[in-house]
Amino acid sequence: MMGGQPIIILKEGTEREKGKGAVYNNIAAARAVADAVKSTLGPKGMDKMLVDSLGDVTITNDGVTILKEIEIEHPTAKMLVEVAKTQDDEVGDGTTSAVVLAGELLKEAESLIEQEVHPTIIVNGYRMAAAEAVRRLRQLAFDVKRTDKATLGSIARTAMSGRSVGTNADFLADIVEEVAGEVRADVDNILVQKKHGGNLKDTTLIDGVVLDKERVHPRMPKFVRDAKIALINRALEVKKTEVNEEIRIRDPAKLQMFLDEEEKTLRAMVEKIQASGANVVLAQKGIDDVAQHYLAKEGIYAVRRVKESDMKKLAKATGARSVTNLDDLTAKELGRADLVEERKVGTDDMTFVTGCKKARAVSILIRGGTEHVVDEVERILHDALRVVAAAIEDGKAIAGGGSAEIELSIALKDYAATVGGREQLAIEAFAGALDVIPRTLGENAGLDPIDVLIKLRADHQKKGGKSMGVNVQTGEPLDMIKANVIEPLRVKIQEIDSAAEVAGMILRIDDVIASKKSPPPPPGGGEHGHGGGMGGMGGMGGMPPGMGM
Ligand code: ADP
Ligand code: MG
Repeated sequence: MMGGQPIIILKEGTEREKGKGAVYNNIAAARAVADAVKSTLGPKGMDKMLVDSLGDVTITNDGVTILKEIEIEHPTAKMLVEVAKTQDDEVGDGTTSAVVLAGELLKEAESLIEQEVHPTIIVNGYRMAAAEAVRRLRQLAFDVKRTDKATLGSIARTAMSGRSVGTNADFLADIVEEVAGEVRADVDNILVQKKHGGNLKDTTLIDGVVLDKERVHPRMPKFVRDAKIALINRALEVKKTEVNEEIRIRDPAKLQMFLDEEEKTLRAMVEKIQASGANVVLAQKGIDDVAQHYLAKEGIYAVRRVKESDMKKLAKATGARSVTNLDDLTAKELGRADLVEERKVGTDDMTFVTGCKKARAVSILIRGGTEHVVDEVERILHDALRVVAAAIEDGKAIAGGGSAEIELSIALKDYAATVGGREQLAIEAFAGALDVIPRTLGENAGLDPIDVLIKLRADHQKKGGKSMGVNVQTGEPLDMIKANVIEPLRVKIQEIDSAAEVAGMILRIDDVIASKKSPPPPPGGGEHGHGGGMGGMGGMGGMPPGMGM
């Protein structure tokens, strides 16, 4: 360069990290995230206690929950958090595994880079390895049918085993197993209601629809057998005159007329309902006091402000057609159920619609000591249902407990030899990284991880050893299919794909240009004290792996 004067193209204060320095820094940041969740992996994983800035405490061992709660600043570390979120959105399980595997892929890449293997070669090799791994996974998978409740129950049990419901996991998995055959892809055909109070063991499965609503009037019947249900989509109220339009009635007789008129309208509404033959009214909107009175007088059971999603479920289950105009309400629009009943749950009254005539509907009513518990159980049940749905949809499952990863690791080493060239090194590194799953499962169970791996590898070389995984009680290899440790194929495929993808993305970055942090906005403006952008370079990157938490 002439005169040695560097040309400055970036704004003053911009941080820039180039070449290997940038790569190493990024790898360290991503590994710190992986190390933060590693100890939670598997049925014997430890919990984390997260304390937020307000002092609120969350105790969990769910990878994605941890990563969502802790505030991570480093841009590369954030990419790993995104992987966990994607995994969670796509399949609802395998989040910790995906992050831990990504961290290990980066660790292996680091030593290849030290051996002067270019990141591009590594990225290429990783891509080939991931494709081969997915191909092998499909071969290892076995069929599951919607009717195979036992296997679907095992899948639910495996997904719940790491979660913080402890000894209740089995009990909850039994409930999921019961409804497994009913699970559809969107999962929300299974209604999950929660009511805190009582004991988790009081959580029940109800063959019907449960509404968190009481009947609107105490003189209505507490239950109706052979229910003929009207689903009403409009308010059973007289439209109030516009707010800004005042009615001035000075003459008391006029006022009485006005009220009589209103009452007549409401009575006519109830008469129309009664004429249809309905003995139950489930209204999406409000019901006026006067209308409530007339409904009660006619012995009709009524509930108001039912959620739209619940109205849809009721329509499907009872065969009712929801009406907006009461003139359209005839016997044909009514839905049928054996029983509509108000029952006390804890201190509240809820409405149970059971014995639905049109289609089977199932609800899970979650009980538990505190709101915190019922919320956590709801999340766990939701995830378990999604995992079961994924298995049903694809009709494929695979042995868990690290067995698939060991099998892939061995297969990829053979595959690497057939590829040759410099990519061979990267594929071998990928194979080595897969060991992190069984190794960590053993480690978290307090076992000797090397011992666990050696025994597992030996068994996988034997005939019929493909599904041998980690027995977290003894450390001896155990057939995971016989032990009912089973996962949907989709969870494993997604785990491998997303780990390889994010590792590749991170490895391709060789230049990080971070703008100067913008000054904090004046008090009252903006929600955070620091500006966005890539200003977090000094964040977790400088921290040695393992110091993330
Ligand atoms: P993730 O967020 O990845 O789902 P988990 O903490 O749920 O993390 O652990 C999942 C791993 O634990 C999977 O590899 C799964 O096969 C394994 N696993 C679950 N139950 C058992 C068990 N009873 N014995 C051995 N491994 C198990
Ligand atoms: Mg899990």
